[in-house]
Amino acid sequence: MNARRDWIKKAIALGVSVPAGMSLSEQLMAAPVSETEFLSMKGRPADAKIRLGSNENPYGPSDKAKQAVIKFLSEGNRYPFQTVTDFKKTLADHEGVTPDHILIGAGSGDLLCATGAAFGVAGGNIVAPYPTFPMLMNYAEVFNTKWEKVNLNDKLEIDYNELAKRISSETKMVFVCNPNNPTGTLVDPKLVKSFCEEVSTRVPVYADEAYLEFLEPEQQVSMVDLVRQNKDVIVSRTFSKIYGIAGMRVGYIVARPDLIKKISKYQPGIPNNQLGLAAAKASLGDTAFMAMSRKKNAEARKHTTDFLKQKGLFFGDSYTNFVFFDPKADALAILNKLNAEGILIRSWDYLGKQWLRVSIGTMEEMKIFTKAYDKITA
Ligand code: PMP
Repeated sequence: MNARRDWIKKAIALGVSVPAGMSLSEQLMAAPVSETEFLSMKGRPADAKIRLGSNENPYGPSDKAKQAVIKFLSEGNRYPFQTVTDFKKTLADHEGVTPDHILIGAGSGDLLCATGAAFGVAGGNIVAPYPTFPMLMNYAEVFNTKWEKVNLNDKLEIDYNELAKRISSETKMVFVCNPNNPTGTLVDPKLVKSFCEEVSTRVPVYADEAYLEFLEPEQQVSMVDLVRQNKDVIVSRTFSKIYGIAGMRVGYIVARPDLIKKISKYQPGIPNNQLGLAAAKASLGDTAFMAMSRKKNAEARKHTTDFLKQKGLFFGDSYTNFVFFDPKADALAILNKLNAEGILIRSWDYLGKQWLRVSIGTMEEMKIFTKAYDKITA
């Protein structure tokens, strides 16, 4: 079943409350990603204490972001037109492109949806791995484009050779995500770059880099370089992950001006607000906050993967703030029992079985998670 498309109807039937007035993109963001997770929603506590379901940064927002919000509160009576223009310039300088190459959105999800619509209206298919972050493909499916799903390799990494092979005359776009969500795995950026370079001569490539900043600075190789070379490549970045302002909804894409124009036509209204933009601007150069988040995340992730190893469970080699693993047990039962303890995680259906993904919270949260998991599966 297409869980995301049908979830509102079924959730209502099951008595799960669905906030009124949710836009399609909000529904897609909040929707379950698997049958298992859908079934577990009924028991999900609204007041969960340990939120390990959405790959958020538990240390954010940074002090600089908070101060910027307080300072810009008095701008709340003004539309953010000039702020958007100014921030575009800041981002353009940061990325080594012109402001025409930048589109800012209410999180990168906003831009994944706009891109899904812009390319989805043409029908055909979008070639993308599975599992990956599904928002662009799910939104494109609303416009009758098919998601041509390409399984990962046995290390849970995106299989770029297979992706290239599956491109056909029907293909309108290829979507890649490095590091990938939900698996956390990374593919050598040199390989990804040559893939994007070659494939973009045939169809546009969307490179989602939401988790790039979890790599050490010297390992962060962005595909923006290809945008600078005028290739048919769209790169997306977000302030929701390492920058820690997921609730303030700021993300952006970098692409050739003609592609930015095409996508921006599908972006609704005025998506950003003064406070989110102020927080994003203050966060952008905050290398100390990023380094602290990266370090603490790596420590808490090690605690988590050591635990999974000790349990004998297979997991993806994560370069991010989440870990994807095979529970070798009833994932739904585990999800429900964790929910009952106030701990939220997510699940995916893949290769005919259910997998779990746990986001990395603070060390204290991960100790509570591993203890609860151990007790539940003993
Ligand atoms: N891309 C990836 C790979 C993600 O995991 C997410 C959120 N989990 C997003 C994009 C969207 O995040 P946001 O809209 O908050 O930028």
